[in-house]
Amino acid sequence: MSSFDAFINRNDSFGPSEKLEIRRYSKVDEILFDAQKTAYGVRYTQHGFPKIARALKEVIVSAGTYGSPQLLLRSGVGPAEDLAELKIPAVVNLPVGKNLQEHAYLPLALSLDDISSDNVYIQERDLTEGSIAEFLDAGEGVLTGTVSRAGQSFLASSVTLAEGFPYWPDIQFTLISQDFPGELDEKVVRAIKPDRANPNQTVYMYVYLGRPKSLGQVKLNPKNVSGPPLVDFQLLQDERDVQIFLDGIKMALQLFEDTQAYRDVGAKYSESPVKFCEHEVFRSDAYWRCYIHTFVTGGYHPAGTCPMGFAGDANAVVDASLR
Ligand SMILES: Cc1cc2nc3c(=O)[nH]c(=O)nc-3n(C[C@H](O)[C@H](O)[C@H](O)COP(=O)(O)OP(=O)(O)OC[C@H]3O[C@@H](n4cnc5c(N)ncnc54)[C@H](O)[C@@H]3O)c2cc1C
Repeated sequence: MSSFDAFINRNDSFGPSEKLEIRRYSKVDEILFDAQKTAYGVRYTQHGFPKIARALKEVIVSAGTYGSPQLLLRSGVGPAEDLAELKIPAVVNLPVGKNLQEHAYLPLALSLDDISSDNVYIQERDLTEGSIAEFLDAGEGVLTGTVSRAGQSFLASSVTLAEGFPYWPDIQFTLISQDFPGELDEKVVRAIKPDRANPNQTVYMYVYLGRPKSLGQVKLNPKNVSGPPLVDFQLLQDERDVQIFLDGIKMALQLFEDTQAYRDVGAKYSESPVKFCEHEVFRSDAYWRCYIHTFVTGGYHPAGTCPMGFAGDANAVVDASLR
């Protein structure tokens, strides 16, 4: 079901009302403020024509992690020093665009001896006319699995333990029982695949930072303020994130090498270092640090550029009533 059917195209009291009008193909360029700094509408462009929509009550900004700060900054809502640099008249000085966070993750690859379809999905083998028919006719078979997210667990690193929050996990494990995950760059897959594996024997564990400490920023591009914003995640800038990854890698290796379940399927982590980190002693902390800095990647969950907080919180952009 689409979001449109779930939330808008409904035949109940939550369904479409005369109050809702959607203007498609419209890009908002600026929020309009009156002299009292009250937002009274937006200026937008539709099919190349500039237009204005006036608000009867309020303007709600929900343009996403990159779009919301971009729109607010263009409209003069943002850090005073950044707006001054961009020569945009400031309406309100707020930390818009700061506090960018991302669930960074690190892929680890291991090989399996038991590559039955219960353990690993291999597209060339498992996506067949028969498996499609089995799924469509009976709702059964290999296609009912969640290969790309086969298992999840949440763990506490030494960082959260030291902070006194043992029951607030900051590591997420995601098991990908797929021999070639689509979201990973092909070069990364080739670099981290265990040396002994043939192309069809690999599964992956993604170690995620559940509560990243590093903070990035979304800014307008001073050379083109109406173009795409500049996004800087600053991944691993906070050393605690590296420590959380180190703990996560060691926990994952323990799982692969010291548990009966993984022994039963002949799981093995690589016996030799990845090419980029050969200069470090294999499996030492220095080696893993190199691995972390080489293979860390964004997990498609950017957030935090317009954070909510109590009135007076210097890091907040909106309060609990979205003001
Ligand atoms: C590849 C990928 C996989 C993901 N997988 C998952 C998952 O499995 N589970 C999960 O929970 N989350 C997942 N996410 C994250 C999830 O999609 C986002 O957290 C969520 O969509 C954020 O919703 P949003 O409404 O804040 O922003 P968005 O979904 O980004 O919506 C913002 C909208 O505003 C529009 N917009 C921006 N600027 C303007 C403007 N100036 N004028 C008019 N319109 C504008 C954009 O076009 C967009 O339609 C994934 C994200 C990606 C990219």
